[in-house]
Amino acid sequence: MSDTGISSDTVDAIVVGSGVNGLVAAAELARAGWSVALVERNDRLGGFIATEERTLPGYRHDTYSSWHPLFVAGPAYAELGGELHRHGLEYRNTEGWAIASVADDGRVACAHRDPELTAAEFAHDADRGAYLAALQRFLDNAGPIGGLLGSELHSPGVLRHLGQLVRGNGRAGTEQWLRDLASSGRAWTRRHFEGTEVDQLWAPWLLHAGLSPDHASGGLMVPVLAATLHGFGLPVVAGGAGAFVAAFEALLAEHGVAVHTGAPVAQILTEDGRAVGVVAAGRTIRARRAVLASVSPGALYGDLLPAADVPSAVREQAGAHRPGRAAMMLHVALSAPLTWTDDRLTDVPLIHLSDGAAGTAIACAEAEAGLLPRNPTVVVGRQYLLDPTRVPAGAASLWIQLQEVPYAPVGDAAGELDTSGGWTEELAKGYAARVLDRIARHAPDLHTKVLATDVVTPADLEAHNPNAEHGDPYGGAAELDQNFWWRPLPSAGSHRTSVAGLWHIGAATHPGAGLGGASGHLAAQALLQPTGLARLLRTVVPK
Ligand SMILES: Cc1cc2nc3c(=O)[nH]c(=O)nc-3n(C[C@H](O)[C@H](O)[C@H](O)COP(=O)(O)OP(=O)(O)OC[C@H]3O[C@@H](n4cnc5c(N)ncnc54)[C@H](O)[C@@H]3O)c2cc1C
Repeated sequence: MSDTGISSDTVDAIVVGSGVNGLVAAAELARAGWSVALVERNDRLGGFIATEERTLPGYRHDTYSSWHPLFVAGPAYAELGGELHRHGLEYRNTEGWAIASVADDGRVACAHRDPELTAAEFAHDADRGAYLAALQRFLDNAGPIGGLLGSELHSPGVLRHLGQLVRGNGRAGTEQWLRDLASSGRAWTRRHFEGTEVDQLWAPWLLHAGLSPDHASGGLMVPVLAATLHGFGLPVVAGGAGAFVAAFEALLAEHGVAVHTGAPVAQILTEDGRAVGVVAAGRTIRARRAVLASVSPGALYGDLLPAADVPSAVREQAGAHRPGRAAMMLHVALSAPLTWTDDRLTDVPLIHLSDGAAGTAIACAEAEAGLLPRNPTVVVGRQYLLDPTRVPAGAASLWIQLQEVPYAPVGDAAGELDTSGGWTEELAKGYAARVLDRIARHAPDLHTKVLATDVVTPADLEAHNPNAEHGDPYGGAAELDQNFWWRPLPSAGSHRTSVAGLWHIGAATHPGAGLGGASGHLAAQALLQPTGLARLLRTVVPK
């Protein structure tokens, strides 16, 4: 176990896990004067945030997450952004064409930061107005909808957001929001648009929310995703996502957080039903006020807590918690930028290979049936367009994300690859070749420019971070029955758990995956709220 900062075996709060939510929680508590220990099993901080030269020298790849619209749009950035920038965090963003989707038949749909320029490209007049109206409707309700998506749902505060929603929309308008929540993304785009562009652009984005085009709640998520992209763009961290973790490390050091790496927490200690510490790498660290755990529900309620402290309903539900589809990453070093068959793709930082709900839903269904998709949705990220320091001068790279991958493949939908040995190196290479061939249909010089490729399989994701159960990058399926009010579990849907002093944070908890940092922020802010007695004293004792 390596320690930095103030080393003490008793602190006010222990944060387990150093993904974005753990970093945010530790920083916010320490800034408020709490003594904090941050305990991480890996030998470095960040969870799914890292930058590494995974292919060739001079090529700096964001191994896992890369795009920061959720962080920049979220409450943790509002709280900590100024200090993180003081500690070196810099963003590079686009003001122009930000995303595109390209179908097998060559149809391209693009979105600009400016919604009007985006809509102007749609073939049907009615769709232009409908797109802008859908965005405006979301913006008019950003307060209550954002409040519901980003606040503690199991708290009286939620009534304020619901009240605002009903007052602003009336009964019919509120019902419309409920109908959107009950709708899939495919149903929502069919209901509102005549042409294909909105579906082609946004159906593959539902994968980034852990959904498929046919999952309920996509009808709410499409306008949320679109408004976020238009409003905040696609910021990436100058120098690589690892610089984000470095800024946090400096912030934590400034506020005296004791950082323990290489320290897997094996046990959460309780006394009289209250969390009082952890055992990590054989060492006991005690917490006076709180333990915040960024772990999976299965780990929290099945492994770390004494069985006697876990209500039976919670234990059963944690055992039945479902992982979502697995994911996979390819990192490609290129000798030079690709030449695309459609010029509009040349400067777009993030491209999906997808024809919209039609093909993406088939690939999702294949993956959920345990098959390698015949025609996977491919996310092609090109951070170097925003931040040229990522590659040697004149070169290029691809950050390729695949979000419809079976954890334990039982077959290949194309009938070409042998899956009988699981994710062997040979299978990973074979599947990577299918993906690169798919890109090459739209960038024919791809194969001549590939210098090196690195594959991160679902098993690699889980090995790096046990919270990615079954290679699921998003901390558990985000289907409606396991999301929002029911996340992480129906009987434990709040960050405050049934064990006094123990808080559950991270992607498995509301508001779910992504780099927003909201669960860490919500838990830290709840802990920093004055207690009832302190509030009473403030009102009766003059300053
Ligand atoms: C390939 C990939 C690409 C992605 N791209 C994006 C993107 O571009 N933008 C975006 O917004 N989101 C993206 N995401 C999602 C996002 O990265 C995650 O949802 C987010 O990072 C999860 O943060 P977290 O706070 O839950 O912690 P995690 O990142 O899940 O980290 C949890 C940490 O806890 C540690 N830990 C677990 N158990 C223990 C224990 N018992 N003791 C000690 N430590 C423990 C783990 O080692 C890990 O470091 C991506 C995810 C993946 C996998």
